[in-house]
Amino acid sequence: NRQVLLASRPVGAPTESNFSIAENTIPVAQEGEVLLRTVFLSLDPYMRGRMSAAESYAAPVEIGSPMVGGSVCRVETSLNADFQKGDWVVAFAGWQDYSVSDGKGLVKLPAMQNPSYALGVLGMPGFTGYMGLLDIGQPKAGETVVVAAATGGVGSTVGQVAKIKGCKVVGIAGGPEKCKFAVEELGFDYCLDHYQDNLAEELAKVCVDGIDVYFENVGGKVFDAVLPLLNTQARIPLCGLISQYNLTELPAGPDRSSALMARLLVKRIRLQGFIVFDDYGSQYGEFSQQMSQWVSEGKVKYKEQMVEGLDNAPSAFMGLLEGKNFGKLVVRVGAD
Ligand code: NDP
Repeated sequence: NRQVLLASRPVGAPTESNFSIAENTIPVAQEGEVLLRTVFLSLDPYMRGRMSAAESYAAPVEIGSPMVGGSVCRVETSLNADFQKGDWVVAFAGWQDYSVSDGKGLVKLPAMQNPSYALGVLGMPGFTGYMGLLDIGQPKAGETVVVAAATGGVGSTVGQVAKIKGCKVVGIAGGPEKCKFAVEELGFDYCLDHYQDNLAEELAKVCVDGIDVYFENVGGKVFDAVLPLLNTQARIPLCGLISQYNLTELPAGPDRSSALMARLLVKRIRLQGFIVFDDYGSQYGEFSQQMSQWVSEGKVKYKEQMVEGLDNAPSAFMGLLEGKNFGKLVVRVGAD
């Protein structure tokens, strides 16, 4: 049973030395349990937080333990009446080939063409984009919605759902290839490259009527460009701040929090953080039904980047924190 363990806690950006690969015996399912074999492992930005000891909304991974993560698995052995050998399930099996579960929290997957989609557009990231946009963002037809990390699992869902709701959608992404994809494949109205020097000016040019919803995935200089353009009663679903996950201290420069507070007050802006399953878990069924329909009708498109082999998970994950992924990052851990 190959496992990727947390070897040490990163200071700043994670490095190879923070991970180690172990080979252990395959666990054995006891009465009431199932043995799961991981087929697909999801790599997600929140895992950076779990590598740190700092207080967060979920407990950190212990040093020497397998990295945590969502997965799509096959049931290898079942001593639990609810599951049969061969079933596909969504689990939280972590970065390893095999794991044992008592069945709690496992979600059986229907036969589907792409089971790995259950880790992306039809799973946690899609749910995040859908709920954050619709519940906190409250997009109305004709409004302008801006989202960064626009081609990723969350951002691509946000933009496409906003288009379905009749909004004008402006994406922000890293590099011309991603921007082209956001416009030509995902149907965004515009997409701007955040590596360009004049992002703020370019954003102002395309957001001629200001910004009504800013779906926050990244923070930092993208937020700086967005803030002056926010309209009265704009909404900001605060989903993630990936540009800050590797920082070891607050960015240099003057404290601008009072300027931010004044802007929120004067413009009566609603800024609200959320943690998707904690806040919206009960609405998963509604999301799942709606999104499956949109994907099957081709109204929502989805791009995933498949990495081959568990051994490549650490480097792929490090790349995710630098924008090297293009689409939802998934590792193929084993054969179907
Ligand atoms: P993505 O698939 O979008 O991958 C991360 C992307 O972030 C990269 O591809 C890159 O896109 C962008 N990025 C990385 N580093 C930086 C940086 N320094 N500055 C600007 N952009 C950067 O990831 P997800 O769709 O899974 O996640 C998007 C966000 O949603 C994250 O912040 C994540 O933490 C958050 N999230 C929050 C949840 C919640 O419940 N609140 C649940 C799930 C996700 P590019 O090259 O285009 O810049």
